[in-house]
Amino acid sequence: MKAAEIRSTFLKFFESKGHQIVASSPVVPGDDPTLLFTNAGMNQFKDVFLGFDKRAYSRATTSQKCIRAGGKHNDLDNVGYTARHHTFFEMLGNFSFGDYFKEDAIAYAWELLTEHFHLPAEKLWVTVYAEDDEAYEIWNKKVGIPAERIVRIGDNKGGRYLSDNFWMMGDTGPCGPCTEIFFDHGPEVAGGPPGSPDENGDRYIEIWNNVFMQFNRTEDGVMHKLPKPSVDTGMGLERLAAVLQHVHSNYSIDTFSALLEAAKKAVDEAGALDCDKDSASLKVIADHIRACSFTIVDGIIPGNEGRGYVLRRIARRAIRHGYKLGARTTFFHKIVGELVNQMGDAYPELRQAQARVTEVLRQEEERFFQTIANGMEILEGALTPGLKQLDGELAFKLHDTFGFPVDLTADVCRERDVTVDQAGFDAAMARQRTQARAAGKFKMAQGLAYAGVPTAFHGYEHLVCETSKVTAVYID
Ligand code: ATP
Ligand code: MG
Ligand code: MG
Ligand code: MG
Repeated sequence: MKAAEIRSTFLKFFESKGHQIVASSPVVPGDDPTLLFTNAGMNQFKDVFLGFDKRAYSRATTSQKCIRAGGKHNDLDNVGYTARHHTFFEMLGNFSFGDYFKEDAIAYAWELLTEHFHLPAEKLWVTVYAEDDEAYEIWNKKVGIPAERIVRIGDNKGGRYLSDNFWMMGDTGPCGPCTEIFFDHGPEVAGGPPGSPDENGDRYIEIWNNVFMQFNRTEDGVMHKLPKPSVDTGMGLERLAAVLQHVHSNYSIDTFSALLEAAKKAVDEAGALDCDKDSASLKVIADHIRACSFTIVDGIIPGNEGRGYVLRRIARRAIRHGYKLGARTTFFHKIVGELVNQMGDAYPELRQAQARVTEVLRQEEERFFQTIANGMEILEGALTPGLKQLDGELAFKLHDTFGFPVDLTADVCRERDVTVDQAGFDAAMARQRTQARAAGKFKMAQGLAYAGVPTAFHGYEHLVCETSKVTAVYID
């Protein structure tokens, strides 16, 4: 089953259960300063859950464009290195606004997975929030999942409600206990079941999260009961597609295979000649073209602040990986065409913006290749014959002032048998951080960037969102 068919099967199933099919909202949230990018299907319904907004329907289903590259849910560093994380992905969801609750949500999920997608029941595991006996009983008694495949996940993260099975959109907003469904990809893949020490492998993959929305968490950490218990679910389309297409990695599904091929062709034509088609770098590029394109569709352009900065960071990360593979001229924007082939039907706004997306990326790419060329010149100048170690201050300056990525410096040095003075680099970085902090820097998570507080480009190290420590106080 191709990704497109999986998407429509999901939506039609929930439509047949009385859900209104609602279009994806943009990846750039319209009026929520607590959010960098849309990170879940429920975002566009946040106010409905909170009771501030009413819709003509009490059940909805969506395929939502999501980006997790900053803020509470940040998967940027996983991308290319796990089989299941993307910066941009599609989240299939069904929602109940004070309508059905745990029992129906679980029954729907099970029916869809086992009767419509025909997943073998014995390969499915579930987790529940440790204290949620109700969800446990539904899975065990009503659905019939044996106790060995139901895992209670508690608060082993150092505080009540910090469990993986207590879902929060961000530091504030709707939240609640959840139950997650995992698929066992089989013993040929490394990793242990949920809750085990090696749960982070790619064998047992979380495919679907059903959240029982019951609270609104405010900035002071207080949990307020929502007007009506509700349901919010999210299933990664790419993860389900991997299962249904009998492959063990999201990057092997139909849509990603085509993108990887297009990425390889573009990188090869830009000078890599015949790069390794299985390299993590190629996966990073194929992933990042989606995140970059969809943010540009929604009006973001690369810049030094806020969302534009995140876009720039993602685009440059992709370009850097292309450079690592051997690309010496622009290649990234050339993949947009294949992305439109893959996703233009489901998201017509992408097709409509194709020319603009391509041009914005081409310009950014030219700028960055120029940055790389300048940096290389400085670096070449410093790498005098016989040099054993590169000055840490210089490596930092290249990175901080000239935007030359530090891992490129390390790569070039490694090729010449030169080490980088890491202690000197770290000291320069620490000094810069202290100065930046003193200057009252970037607090996107608190929404200050939207209140007009200026933010400066402090180099790549100053990742955008610094979420405050999450602590929760319970009020019934
Ligand atoms: P994980 O533990 O694998 O990082 P998660 O618990 O952070 O996932 P949720 O917030 O529960 O994910 O999101 C709902 C669903 O969205 C997940 O069950 C998964 O199928 C999908 N999903 C989450 N993050 C990603 C991602 N970075 N790339 C692709 N799919 C994702
Ligand atoms: Mg995650
Ligand atoms: Mg998880
Ligand atoms: Mg989850």
